[in-house]
Amino acid sequence: MEQNKAKSLYIHIPFCQHICEYCDFVRVGYHQDLADRFLKRCEQDLSLRQGETFETIYIGGGTPSALSIEQLKTLLMLIRPFIDVNCEFTMEANPENFSEDKIKLCVEYGVNRISLGVQSVQSKLLNLIGRKHTLEDAQNVISLLRKWGIDNISADGMYGLPTQTLADFKDTLTWLIHQKLPHVSLYALTIEPNSAFGRKHVQSIDNSLEGDFYQLADDMLSDAGYQHYEISNFCLPGMESRHNLTYWHYEDFVAIGPGAAGKENHRRYTITKNIHRYLTEGIIFDEDIQLSVTDEMFEFVMMGLRLKKGIELRRFKTRFGISIETVFNKAIEKNIEKGWLIFSDTHVFPSDDGRLFLHDVLIDFMEVEPVNG
Ligand code: SF4
Repeated sequence: MEQNKAKSLYIHIPFCQHICEYCDFVRVGYHQDLADRFLKRCEQDLSLRQGETFETIYIGGGTPSALSIEQLKTLLMLIRPFIDVNCEFTMEANPENFSEDKIKLCVEYGVNRISLGVQSVQSKLLNLIGRKHTLEDAQNVISLLRKWGIDNISADGMYGLPTQTLADFKDTLTWLIHQKLPHVSLYALTIEPNSAFGRKHVQSIDNSLEGDFYQLADDMLSDAGYQHYEISNFCLPGMESRHNLTYWHYEDFVAIGPGAAGKENHRRYTITKNIHRYLTEGIIFDEDIQLSVTDEMFEFVMMGLRLKKGIELRRFKTRFGISIETVFNKAIEKNIEKGWLIFSDTHVFPSDDGRLFLHDVLIDFMEVEPVNG
């Protein structure tokens, strides 16, 4: 089997100025000394990659924009040698702390795509979920990004928030559409036990209402010319997230930072979520799995069926030397009969219903005999 050279790099910045009520990500409150130590650690991790360059780089978090301007400069200088020609270089930002100086710095160091956490246009909802920015802050950041030449902007929105009505969400969608952003990601609120909401026993909305939110987004964004190219992601034509396509195409990616997950050379790993251990003990993994061919075939399908286009038959064959129909014959036939999968000359992809029931579709794909290789 071929050894993949990773084309993508993910760096997790675990600091946030405030902690959102729903958050279960790997993050801590921003602290200058801790962030300085973290950057030293990043430098060590990146030094192991000397000579490599990446076609996509994604700085996520946490909140990368929570770093001070000096720290952000240090981070961007560390990353600079790894930027390939035509690299899609994305950084996540919070409208709360993405100043014009930080934006200029990003431009100077090659960041060419920003993913902005907008979440909602209603201040009552932003307050409820613990976001400290206003809609005006988000609007201001978008204007500044365009002023300094970053047009490739993605915004995150949320639905299923406590007390949020369909009319509230419609206003958020209308605002997002009005911004003419090339990319929008929409996430349903999930109540994680370790989040503040989880500890307060906040209840999730029921599935049928969640379906209504999802349908509203699909209808409004499609009417506005967006392609619903992945379950949670919409884009104007040609503006898919190239970095995230690496995940959905099941290609290799390098991970750096606490809690970050990577996949390289048939090995999937998650770096320790414990920030103290990350800073003091070298590279420690919470998960480090050597993937069998059977694992990889299933995960290839699991990721690929998240895409509206689905899986390109030729890519599967090239990757594994055997056709997807041969390996997953039963699962494919069963789900075509249910109307959940569609098979064309070039792709296998989920129907609209199949996307809603993707979890059930994938259970059938798990029942495959192990393949030697
Ligand atoms: S949701 Fe994002 S910004 Fe909010 S605390 Fe979590 S990582 Fe930080």
